[in-house]
Amino acid sequence: MIRRIDLTDAAPSVDYRGSVPRAEFDVEAAAHAVRPVIEAVKTRGLDAVLEYTAKFDGVEQTDIRVPVEALTEALEGLDPAVRAGLEESIRRLRLTCAAELEADVTTELGEGALVTHRKVPMDRVGLYVPGGLAPLVSSVVMNTVPAQVAGVGSIALASPPQKHNNGLPESTILAACALLGVDEVYAVGGAQAIAMFAHGAGDCAPVNLVTGPGNIYVAAAKRELRGVVGIDSEAGPTEIAILADDTADAAFVAADLISQAEHDPMASSVLVTDSVALADAVVVELEKQAEATKHTERIRTALGGQQSGIVIVRDVEQGIAVVDAYAAEHLEIHTRDADAVAARVRNAGAIFVGSFAPVSLGDYCAGSNHVLPTAGCACHSSGLSVRAFTKSVHVISYTKAALAEVADHVVTLANAEDLPGHGQAVSVRFAGEAGGEK
Ligand code: NAD
Repeated sequence: MIRRIDLTDAAPSVDYRGSVPRAEFDVEAAAHAVRPVIEAVKTRGLDAVLEYTAKFDGVEQTDIRVPVEALTEALEGLDPAVRAGLEESIRRLRLTCAAELEADVTTELGEGALVTHRKVPMDRVGLYVPGGLAPLVSSVVMNTVPAQVAGVGSIALASPPQKHNNGLPESTILAACALLGVDEVYAVGGAQAIAMFAHGAGDCAPVNLVTGPGNIYVAAAKRELRGVVGIDSEAGPTEIAILADDTADAAFVAADLISQAEHDPMASSVLVTDSVALADAVVVELEKQAEATKHTERIRTALGGQQSGIVIVRDVEQGIAVVDAYAAEHLEIHTRDADAVAARVRNAGAIFVGSFAPVSLGDYCAGSNHVLPTAGCACHSSGLSVRAFTKSVHVISYTKAALAEVADHVVTLANAEDLPGHGQAVSVRFAGEAGGEK
């Protein structure tokens, strides 16, 4: 079901980026597919959104805006246990978001010379909540809570229309929007949703930033529109890597590999271990557990794909180098001294430490965010947080005396760049004064 890769003979200097499985999905090919969608939405707005919704989602609509009454009704009809779960998920995420909110920082560089690093929330954001293979109600929470805690003024949310729900997004998604007080909701999915956020369409005015996970078309549209609009990290088909030694519980490891494979046939599940005995036991568990769960076919496709595998390493030391190079979206550590091992990993979207912090916990209720960089982007990007919804601006405040302190240096550096006008803009302020321009 899952292939095995033996790296025990790899030279110590090898760059493991190419030796570890990764999905061979072609974002460039998907970009080719979404370009006409983006162009059409840009030029023809709502009409184009409706056309592509009929084509890709099989839903004929006349409007995309979800009526507020539908949100209220969905919340009224929500299973109380699901509501309680959502409320706990929201409560925990709000706590971490509030703690992570950064204060303005003012540095005094001399008397009367102040530079303030001011945090400013985005004016308007577009949140994407996937709804193709699974109704990701948790993504409503993961997108919305940090935006709200950051103080974003205007929030719009889009999720694919569902045939079985009269062309509205899934009811649980609508209910979560109502629970969080998000009332600008659109029944649009895929690239057409990202294009709608970037260019505006129908009721939806353009946004400053688009966030949220999605399939390859969503990821490709975000890549294409970066610059027209701000984009969080590329959060595409999910990945889990598990670094484990012989102390790991094979049943736990297999369950966690399956939990992410369940998302998408393109999902990647990778085990890195120095224990052949554990690898063998995990294979047995994978067979057993995959057969007993609901989405067996999707899981088998993901685990059997070239993007998944069991990587055998010499020792945990080599395992750390391998997972660091792989830069997984989710990394679990099931080893002796798991805290110490986790502290040495630099590249991962989120790190889950020990046997009792499965990725599923982070998917819903850990208090961390589940919108995380995929495809190796964790080596340069971060998961969603309040920081993604704020930008910073330097505010510079100098008195005349404070400017005088540094004026000669500014003039000298301006002349060194052959930009005398820059120097003059300082000198003119001291014209007629001792040491200043006559
Ligand atoms: P989705 O909402 O991302 O995509 C569905 C949309 O794709 C549809 O509305 C349709 O418009 C569009 N589409 C489908 N086929 C198309 C085609 N051939 N051409 C153009 N557009 C097409 O939902 P999904 O498909 O279930 O994917 C959700 C993804 O999100 C999964 O891959 C999951 O792993 C990922 N995910 C990632 C993270 C993360 O943080 N990285 C978190 C949660 C989920």
